[in-house]
Amino acid sequence: MEVRDMEGLVAVVTGGASGIGAAIADALHARGARVAVLDRVGADSPYRILRCDVTRDDTVTTAITDVVSGLGRLDIVVNNAGIGAVGTVADNDDAEWLRVLDVNVLGAVRVSRAALPHLRKSPHAAIVNVCSIAATAGLPQRAVYSATKGAVLSLTQAMAADHVREGIRVNCVNPGTVDTPWVQRLLAAADDPVRERTALEARQPHGRLVTAQEVAHAVAYLASPLAASTTGTALAVDGGMAALRLRPPASADAQPAQPILA
Ligand code: NAD
Repeated sequence: MEVRDMEGLVAVVTGGASGIGAAIADALHARGARVAVLDRVGADSPYRILRCDVTRDDTVTTAITDVVSGLGRLDIVVNNAGIGAVGTVADNDDAEWLRVLDVNVLGAVRVSRAALPHLRKSPHAAIVNVCSIAATAGLPQRAVYSATKGAVLSLTQAMAADHVREGIRVNCVNPGTVDTPWVQRLLAAADDPVRERTALEARQPHGRLVTAQEVAHAVAYLASPLAASTTGTALAVDGGMAALRLRPPASADAQPAQPILA
């Protein structure tokens, strides 16, 4: 069923040139929003693409100003741009911590800060942050990445409190492992990509990877004027990975190996 609940609204999606961000742009467009994509790389996209590195405040403010001058308003911000990192707390130096925090946490801060004056003028203002299962469950070899996503979860709640009386809602989605170019790159680098994929699929109770479209629909729900009473929430899109505790399969032999990737 087609829902056109975003007619007349303007949305910005960071990291919309690939994977989950591209699917979010499609989902918001399908609901009637005019969509601008902010990404550090270009892409063959049907939407307005603005080159923007979320680690550079000057490119962020310029991009947001360009969106508002070009499309006339700003109602929805999706902070999706993000990067991964592998290792325990012992494995990464300060430079790596600061690099990942700069994109995953401060990137959302910079984009939200630039957008707030425009969102305050919208009757349907919403920010949706793309967080992760890594914010709510301990995953091996993901210390830096998990810390950044834990920060995104707390930031979401703090921002929701700060801006609720201004009519700006702030929520996040927590995807499990999603079949995107990011995960495909990680799988390609694994010693045994087929075995690794099988292990990742088995880690999610519904037995498969999440699709980018499933995450996008959750984001669209939270961004929608139809969710006007929903703020400060984290919506898991993880096949039950965060919430369910299943008994192991009947045969112990059927248990796949523990995945290495998050
Ligand atoms: P992806 O690598 O396919 O896409 C990420 C996009 O972000 C790319 O287009 C990239 O150019 C852009 N980007 C990266 N750094 C940027 C910067 N500094 N400035 C502007 N754009 C930048 O990744 P994806 O799998 O689609 O992940 C998107 C988001 O979803 C990330 O925040 C990630 O942490 C989160 N997430 C992904 C998964 C997963 O399994 N794929 C799971 C949970 C959460």
